[in-house]
Amino acid sequence: MSGVVRIAGQGLAGTLLAWALERRGRTFELYDPGHKTSASRVGAGLVNPVTGERWALAPGWAERATAAKSFYREIEAAWGVALVTDLRVRRAWRDEAEGRWVRAKVGRGELAPWVTPAGLERDAAWIEGAWRVDLPALLAAGRRRWRGQGCLREAALRSDETEWAVTGSARELGPVIWCTGAAETRVPDLRAVGGETLELVVGGAAGELPPGVVRHDGVWVLPVGGGRAWVGASFIRDESERLARREELRARARRQLADRDWCELAVLAGYRMTTADRLPAAGWLPGREGREGILNGLGSKGVLWGPGLAEDWADRLGVNSVNQMDHGLHR
Ligand SMILES: Cc1cc2nc3c(=O)[nH]c(=O)nc-3n(C[C@H](O)[C@H](O)[C@H](O)COP(=O)(O)OP(=O)(O)OC[C@H]3O[C@@H](n4cnc5c(N)ncnc54)[C@H](O)[C@@H]3O)c2cc1C
Repeated sequence: MSGVVRIAGQGLAGTLLAWALERRGRTFELYDPGHKTSASRVGAGLVNPVTGERWALAPGWAERATAAKSFYREIEAAWGVALVTDLRVRRAWRDEAEGRWVRAKVGRGELAPWVTPAGLERDAAWIEGAWRVDLPALLAAGRRRWRGQGCLREAALRSDETEWAVTGSARELGPVIWCTGAAETRVPDLRAVGGETLELVVGGAAGELPPGVVRHDGVWVLPVGGGRAWVGASFIRDESERLARREELRARARRQLADRDWCELAVLAGYRMTTADRLPAAGWLPGREGREGILNGLGSKGVLWGPGLAEDWADRLGVNSVNQMDHGLHR
């Protein structure tokens, strides 16, 4: 497939796709007016093998975690920027009943090797093998890189600018891949779920939180460096519950950080894009095969899912004929 690929949106999805194309020597242009509305500006970037109320193995972990981490490590090496931090998560149970249930699960080896009997405490279990990508650092480094290479356009791409040949243009334009997060309106079952994180300064006599350790009691406290920590993240399914969810985060912060002095710096807010089956939306828009595609719907697992999807897209964009590619949106 020929022509300059245009990527609309330089959040996590657009950044990973641009890098996957750059590695293949494929020409692209990246559009983003700034990151005012990006989920990736506020996303905590956590990848945790054991998640959810049911302490289950994260969907996609087994197939994707190793390759995804290598992808970010490769970016670190190529761009000279630190992005990935290995983490241990100390997750407390809500009550004794949950504790008994988790202990039984661990006893049966269901969470091995991430939680083992050696990692059980009176009121919590240690989850090993988690990691985090510093998403704001990834976005900023990508922006510097592609600004320097002259392929970043610091503006929105308009939907009427998507034809292959723009009159008067000397360059041949290829397909547009829309990585526009919450701005995407054409995928019927894609919906935005609000989320907030509190940014805190933590210090005082007890000192900063140890780096590399996440406290978790259903809500996590994540040290992010520079004496700061993020607490979150809430799920806001209806705007009317926004303030109540924020107060819940504050209550959790008070409980989890009872041993520390801290104050609130900011509330970081964004939207996770999710689909009914919680799978990402990746593929050509129906009727626009070979011209307009989508990479979206990364939900709350964007860091885990993003690299593989970006690689798939880059492979498809490298071939010469639309016939060789999937048709229609993969949903
Ligand atoms: C509070 C919160 C906590 C989260 N925590 C985690 C976590 O711990 N782990 C995890 O894996 N995921 C987490 N997520 C989810 C993760 O942040 C998202 O999956 C991911 O950031 C989505 O990236 P994206 O590129 O699809 O969208 P976005 O980051 O929203 O990027 C879309 C971009 O498109 C640009 N844009 C829009 N319209 C146009 C246009 N017309 N032309 C050009 N550009 C345009 C916008 O400026 C924006 O920069 C969290 C999300 C939230 C909100």
